[in-house]
Amino acid sequence: MRVTVFIRDDTEQLQARPDNQSLIADHRAVVHTVIPVNVMHQKIAVIDEWTVMIGSLNTLSQSWTRQAMVTMRGGHFARKLLEHEHAELFTRPPKCERCGGTSIELHRRTNGTWFWRCYDTIRKTGRNGRSNAWYGDVRVGRGKR
Ligand SMILES: [Zn+2]
Repeated sequence: MRVTVFIRDDTEQLQARPDNQSLIADHRAVVHTVIPVNVMHQKIAVIDEWTVMIGSLNTLSQSWTRQAMVTMRGGHFARKLLEHEHAELFTRPPKCERCGGTSIELHRRTNGTWFWRCYDTIRKTGRNGRSNAWYGDVRVGRGKR
């Protein structure tokens, strides 16, 4: 079994708190791949390309809220959804071409195109005061989204 988890990146205020950072570290210890995504709203879990859980509920951090989640079973729908979410592509982040590291997060431009970005260097700035982090475009086949 292979587990890949997409989480928000640390620009999300609640997530940036030290206690939550420690939960993420625990997560990284037991999950094969954890990929931070800048601005993510979907809550989707796909199990064995068969069971899909989708909705507004945070399956991994549920508290007393009025969020909902629907579970559907069936390989066709599960595979379609994984394809739509670029699961295959997004599960395999490249290594940083500058530092060789694997601290890679996923970003989306306002025009809908995706890119990987190294967050090891994200807060290091160049002489012009801008971030000098490595980034590389994600090549999404068939259309840009
Ligand atoms: Zn790097």
